[in-house]
Amino acid sequence: MKFPVIFSGHGDPMIALRNDDVTRGMRIIGGKVLADFGKPKAILAVSAHWYTDGTFIQSVESPEQIYDMYGFPQELYEVKYPVKGCAELSGRVRELLGDSVSVNNEWGIDHGTWTVLVHMFPDADIPVVQLSVSRKLSPGQCFEAGKKLSPLRNEGYLIFGSGNVVHNLRLVEWDNPDGTEETLTFNSYIIENIQARNYDAVIGYSSGPSAKYAVPTPEHYLPLVYCLGASDGDNVTVFNNVCNLGSMAMTGFAFGL
Ligand code: ZN
Repeated sequence: MKFPVIFSGHGDPMIALRNDDVTRGMRIIGGKVLADFGKPKAILAVSAHWYTDGTFIQSVESPEQIYDMYGFPQELYEVKYPVKGCAELSGRVRELLGDSVSVNNEWGIDHGTWTVLVHMFPDADIPVVQLSVSRKLSPGQCFEAGKKLSPLRNEGYLIFGSGNVVHNLRLVEWDNPDGTEETLTFNSYIIENIQARNYDAVIGYSSGPSAKYAVPTPEHYLPLVYCLGASDGDNVTVFNNVCNLGSMAMTGFAFGL
């Protein structure tokens, strides 16, 4: 059994409390994983919100859920997603990535991960280990790292990335329920290239249309590139093809599902 690889958009952290088409889309994907593959041994989560100088992996038995976002309503800080870690998965990641990764337990399960997993796997009964996104790696190197991690899929692990295909916080339009022209253009460009397995265009996203607008900084985009590397060219299911707040794309990709 080879587990799928899932990339999901997260966007506004308040999504953790919502019940709408996007959160339903997350629930459907999670439900399909459990129905078709059973419960993974653990989830390896690559979150946009752990963007570090170097590649780090968590190894603690009970990682802390962290509320790494500020100025939101109190109820968001009361959302609980208590999960175990998985020493075996941490060890396998260290074997697969070698010297390029080191253990670091200073971070926890951040909102990039839990605001999505509360919907995708609401029972919080699957251990989670976070892998950081390294700002020292080029997109091509992130793809290669994802490739090295793909054997985990045959060992009962689910590889999960959380970020956004389009994420421009500075230009967010809080009253806009849709995406701007630039957002829609870049989002479609990435979807089409992933569906066509034209991965060079996805890795070389900075030459894409409206790329400077869509990806002003790379941390929300790169989790997708790790996932693509781990995808082994498997069939892709696009979910939550939704653009909102002007400059946000919630698009998700499930490979091998
Ligand atoms: Zn984010």
